[in-house]
Amino acid sequence: MALIIDDSCINCDMCEPECPNEAITMGEEVYEIDPGLCTECLGHYDKPTCVSVCPIDCIDPDPEHKESQDELLIKYARLTGKSPN
Ligand code: SF4
Ligand code: SF4
Repeated sequence: MALIIDDSCINCDMCEPECPNEAITMGEEVYEIDPGLCTECLGHYDKPTCVSVCPIDCIDPDPEHKESQDELLIKYARLTGKSPN
């Protein structure tokens, strides 16, 4: 499933440049993740890189955007035109 940034985000700018899918942008108050672009980093990294760099642990799975591994693989292929490694 896509991840979501909660409103405790301190806008530290660490995650935005790290996202391989350019899914993270500044929202009205805090950074936001576009669920249409987030693959949980599947196809790029072993685990979500935004979570790894976030200093305050404010990025969690988004229960509103549940997806199976297969659905994430299809999203990765659609976004990149490539098959996952
Ligand atoms: Fe981007 Fe990966 Fe974080 Fe999703 S999990 S927002 S793809 S860095
Ligand atoms: Fe917000 Fe965490 Fe991203 Fe920093 S790394 S901008 S605290 S979500």
